[in-house]
Amino acid sequence: MLNETHAHHLRSWVASANDGVTDFPVQNLPYGVFRRRGSDEPWRVGVAIGTMILDVDSAHRHGVLDGGAARAATTCASPSLNGLMSLGPTAWTALRRAVSELLRDDTVTGAAARALEPALLVAQHDAELRLPADVGDYTDFYASVYHATNVGAMFRPDNPLLPNYKWVPIGYHGRASSLVVSGTPIVRPIGQVGSEGGAPPVFAPTRRFDYEAELGAFVGAGNSLGSPIPIDAATHQLFGIALLNDWSARDIQAWEYQPLGPFLAKNFATTLSPWVVTFEALAPFRVPAFVRPAGDPAPLPYLFDAADQAHGGLDITIEVWLRTARMHATGDAPVRLSSGNARDMYWTVAQLLAHHASNGCNLQPGDLLGSGTISGADRGSRGCLLELAWRGSEPVRLPNGEDRRFLEDGDEVILRGHCAREGFVRIGFGDCSGEVRGAAVGSF
Ligand code: MN
Repeated sequence: MLNETHAHHLRSWVASANDGVTDFPVQNLPYGVFRRRGSDEPWRVGVAIGTMILDVDSAHRHGVLDGGAARAATTCASPSLNGLMSLGPTAWTALRRAVSELLRDDTVTGAAARALEPALLVAQHDAELRLPADVGDYTDFYASVYHATNVGAMFRPDNPLLPNYKWVPIGYHGRASSLVVSGTPIVRPIGQVGSEGGAPPVFAPTRRFDYEAELGAFVGAGNSLGSPIPIDAATHQLFGIALLNDWSARDIQAWEYQPLGPFLAKNFATTLSPWVVTFEALAPFRVPAFVRPAGDPAPLPYLFDAADQAHGGLDITIEVWLRTARMHATGDAPVRLSSGNARDMYWTVAQLLAHHASNGCNLQPGDLLGSGTISGADRGSRGCLLELAWRGSEPVRLPNGEDRRFLEDGDEVILRGHCAREGFVRIGFGDCSGEVRGAAVGSF
């Protein structure tokens, strides 16, 4: 799985990629869709490198890509990554290898590309980014056993984890139309909220507005209707990962979720980070699948693959940062609320994908699989406020004295993710942010 593109010693002729702190060194090479801010240029596929973006289509037109990489690059003059995603891993690897050579400071191609720099690079601060893919279908899972146990304990103290959890990956069909890119303001939703003691429900802005720190995995070529994806083929169907914030209205959710699951409590907005870190870039950070405690069942055969058990986990740190309106006004930097890790997922991403297709359901390029809130065993790793403030009973105290049980208007929530391992260069995901705006109360 590892190849020359992962080597620690690689450096880029784009100086900002070599500073040791950027999310986007030459070992990462995530894809996004961009254009110059305020222009009417066509949206097109780019690769983040340091503080810059490589215009892949321009590189192709200037003749610095060839062979399989050039063929793959023909999908990059496009306002989405769906075309590239549909090509499959051989093409992805060819393009990654070529882009790596093109951006390195010690290759012939790199020297040729550097001479073309004004035509190939756009500064990220001069660019706007849109959603990286046209997402046809979005499914959100529930893959953290710690999150499932914590939330279950709030509602069923004697029986926090339902008996199906350790057998079947739990998920629901989300809403693709309301996916938004990082930076999009999020309006506090209005909805029907149950009342105590049998009183009628009220229709009002949510008072329990929350975030969920998740990963979103993008599907590659996919499968045709009626043709499941075997677990040992699932990794070839996974293109890459972005950060995902599954905004949630807990009071609306509590009233509406039985018996069919989440609906309007979650489908008003879901934020994605603009850069998709490929599974190939993540190869150095693969770890064994979650070690199940003694007594837990083994995965059923259709979800069990020895290679997936050995390498199917992901060592990705996922942090949640908060900047309140007051902090913004006083110039305070965001504060970190939590830090979790995707290796605590009970199911691997390959298992989620194989399970999703196991009944013949067809997955398509650009389909999105949310991990579910990623929480770990300790309090500091809880990936949503519902858990962190324990349903409002343990408010989170911020350094400036403010308390949070749930989100207030003007709160900006920022998800950040990174991977680090001895002997490899740290890579990151960029920010996934959204600021809460007041409800449109005149509208009801
Ligand atoms: Mn979720």
